[in-house]
Amino acid sequence: MQSIRKALRKGELDKDTYERVVCADCDKPLKTENDPDTITTIRICPECNTKWKEIR
Ligand SMILES: [Zn+2]
Repeated sequence: MQSIRKALRKGELDKDTYERVVCADCDKPLKTENDPDTITTIRICPECNTKWKEIR
């Protein structure tokens, strides 16, 4: 799984005017899925279901 930061750099993810991370393909704000066992937060596009990881 690719990290949020890398995807933003590659242009796969974008930020909207409210600083929310959005999928560049679908233009949808990502959903958040927390894994209680790790410090990694999973971000999912509700449209294409692509996942990215966010290190807190
Ligand atoms: Zn998408």
